[in-house]
Amino acid sequence: MHTKIWLSSPHMGGNEMRYVQEAFESNWVAPLGPNVDEFEKSIAKYLNVGGASALSAGTAALHLALILLGVKSGDEVLVQSFTFSASVNPICYLGATPVFVDSEEDTWNMCPKALEKAIESRLAKGMKPKAIIPVHLYGMPARMEEICAIAKHYSIPIIEDAAEALGASYKNKKIGSFGDFGVLSFNGNKIITTSGGGALVSDAPELIRKSRFLATQARDEAPHYQHSQLGYNYRMSNVLAGIGRGQMEVLDERVKKRRRINAWYREVLQDVPGVSFQTEPGDEYFSNFWLTAILVDPEDSNGITCETLRLALLKENIESRPLWKPMHLQPVFQRFPFFGTGVSERFFEQGLCLPSGSNLSDEDLEFIKRVLLKIFHLKNKAILT
Ligand SMILES: *Cc1c(COP(=O)(O)O)cnc(C)c1O
Repeated sequence: MHTKIWLSSPHMGGNEMRYVQEAFESNWVAPLGPNVDEFEKSIAKYLNVGGASALSAGTAALHLALILLGVKSGDEVLVQSFTFSASVNPICYLGATPVFVDSEEDTWNMCPKALEKAIESRLAKGMKPKAIIPVHLYGMPARMEEICAIAKHYSIPIIEDAAEALGASYKNKKIGSFGDFGVLSFNGNKIITTSGGGALVSDAPELIRKSRFLATQARDEAPHYQHSQLGYNYRMSNVLAGIGRGQMEVLDERVKKRRRINAWYREVLQDVPGVSFQTEPGDEYFSNFWLTAILVDPEDSNGITCETLRLALLKENIESRPLWKPMHLQPVFQRFPFFGTGVSERFFEQGLCLPSGSNLSDEDLEFIKRVLLKIFHLKNKAILT
């Protein structure tokens, strides 16, 4: 049996160990230190934003962003339904209500029309939403021009969930830098990783300072431990930030490789009826193609569904994964309002993420290709990787 081919696994660049070693040698084995400072600087520089705060997870970054926007129990927050649960959980930690917004056909991300409908409908009920959380799924930028215009028109702040989209850009501006806040994740399966971790970014240094304050137990200035606000223990370890420093050095290479894998899949599957890809709608969109995502329409694919495809790949020890199940269909969230027309439901029914890790070898890709061709009964042809 071929060794397991993962959807997306950690891919170290080489310098990570050196920075981790430095943390040990200087005994900065703590949730602060030079690696944290340098990692934060490199993130802020890369995104061209005022500041970044390195945290224990992307989920923690979302939680702090909501707190910094003053979201409280009973408030409403607009959030893309087609996402991972971590985009929504922190809204509920605060006792606020998520209001789910459907996706649109091109980017698969938040539909500006459904967003506007949701805002108008909530305003008519006397509820003004406290924040908008668009998500850049699988690295694909959402329609940020329209979403930012709507947010500005109604004066509602944006928290960009860019957990999957580090390295992507829209109109040559980095994803994560459009909102009042941007959220990044360095979980083990993301485009770069610190094994686990995240960051909150913002153009406002004051907000970043506050996020560090809240993330280190909200300790007031005093020789003793004095607290006038609820605090959290959300800071990133200086050891892990060392991994992050090394990973930032290879981020652009990782993006290149993921984009090359995406282009390669398009060639492999170009003659397969019923198969389509999540695709950049125009030149202004630059996805990091964290994961290559396809739709399989069984009406056109001789009855092959995304689930038969997933099981056939699994039999060959190749991991693939259904698209995110929309949050408005999740038992834990289905009581909350939803605005949309079923676009994300169809994506969920027909979609699959294919192995996309930047450490896939040419042999791995050749093997995946052979399996895909067999499943779809296609003839082999030479494709350059
Ligand atoms: C991974 C992810 C998160 C959460 O990040 P963690 O670092 O795992 O807490 C949030 N939103 C989306 C869309 C994600 O994919």
